[in-house]
Amino acid sequence: MEFMGTETIDDFFSGQAAALAGGTTMHIDFVIPANGSLSAGFETYLGKAKRSCMDYGFHMAITKWDETVSREMEVMVKEKGINSFKFFLAYKGSLMINDELLLEGFKKCKSLGALAMVHAENGDAVFEGQKRMIELGITGPEGHALSRPPVLEGEATARAIRLAGFVNTPLYIVHVMSIDAMEEIAKARKSGQRVIGEPVASGLVLDDSGLWDPDFDTAAKFVMSPPIRAPGHGKALQAALSTGVLQLVGTDHCTFNSTQKAFGIDDFRKIPNGVNGVEERMHLVWDTMVESGQISVTDYVRLTSTECARIFNIYPRKGAILPGSDADVIIFNPNSSFEISAASHHSRSDTNVYEGRRGKTSPGGKTWRSHHAALIADGSLPSKALPSRLTDVRYIAVMSIAEAHLLIPGEVIRTSHGSVGTTHMSL
Ligand SMILES: [Zn+2]
Repeated sequence: MEFMGTETIDDFFSGQAAALAGGTTMHIDFVIPANGSLSAGFETYLGKAKRSCMDYGFHMAITKWDETVSREMEVMVKEKGINSFKFFLAYKGSLMINDELLLEGFKKCKSLGALAMVHAENGDAVFEGQKRMIELGITGPEGHALSRPPVLEGEATARAIRLAGFVNTPLYIVHVMSIDAMEEIAKARKSGQRVIGEPVASGLVLDDSGLWDPDFDTAAKFVMSPPIRAPGHGKALQAALSTGVLQLVGTDHCTFNSTQKAFGIDDFRKIPNGVNGVEERMHLVWDTMVESGQISVTDYVRLTSTECARIFNIYPRKGAILPGSDADVIIFNPNSSFEISAASHHSRSDTNVYEGRRGKTSPGGKTWRSHHAALIADGSLPSKALPSRLTDVRYIAVMSIAEAHLLIPGEVIRTSHGSVGTTHMSL
């Protein structure tokens, strides 16, 4: 996607190759309208998706409001298969919308039966926080975290939840990064409101210490919004995931290389926001949550795969191993190990926020796709775009070399943890 004056270094091909290598077989990307036009934005993203090598779906961002946008939302839902719309309460001056527009958007989602999603940070207060940091002479990446503290995420989460409640429509909070936001979701769910909370891999396993690294390139790679939080938040989000307060794990994979991150070398406000994660998500959730006993293997399948398919109405085509479902199957070897490095990952980014991290289990390296007779052996990935369709039927199997065998459509796979992966990604 185009964002903050530049474009993500991963496109549909490299982002999806990274996803497949990490054991995720479908993603849902965010379409950004072109000059406010939803249909033009949709066409642009269909063009980008020509480079796909796995199945995908779309959410759509709503960044302004008028009769045309309202009408086009209907077209997107009824004709283009989009069933979720994202509203940004942050990024003042670009993607941010005000409460009036948010209410209009929520009402429209309700009338269409679509799911409203919110990026929850108070954009006006973030703007104020940024000004404060610059006045104090704080221009480095640490200013990013300091200018948008958890309280601003908590405020926007609470506001979005209350307004969705006021309109009586379900709400999905993307990239929940803080205890403040999580507690608002917990409260709403306890009261019976339909609110879905999605933490992302970075928020679960990282803390903000990297943002204080004296080396700019190292610190800047951790800049994303809402920010990666102080120690303690990640652990609380893990607990919320294991107890059902939060429902699924995404990534918000949105990568920029160090040359692009360096746009903000003198001013943290110009560092393009986003981190990697689509290739690492499955490894990290397994290693952090299953190995530690916080969740069971079946929880793992639900949190990384099934729940997403259910929420976005892709189940049981995805998210299940059933007769008639797509044969998107990954098989993990829990006895193997992984080490993450920019030198070996499949994203085009020259950095990795999980650099050097080791853990247990890894998805295997065989991807087999029967429809296209593409056999990619032993860890290599597609060398070119393969015909892929919008949430379409395909047979994809990613297997560990030890367990590798060709999947026959309809064959029953007996494994305790085979799963279909769906995640969010911005390419
Ligand atoms: Zn966002």
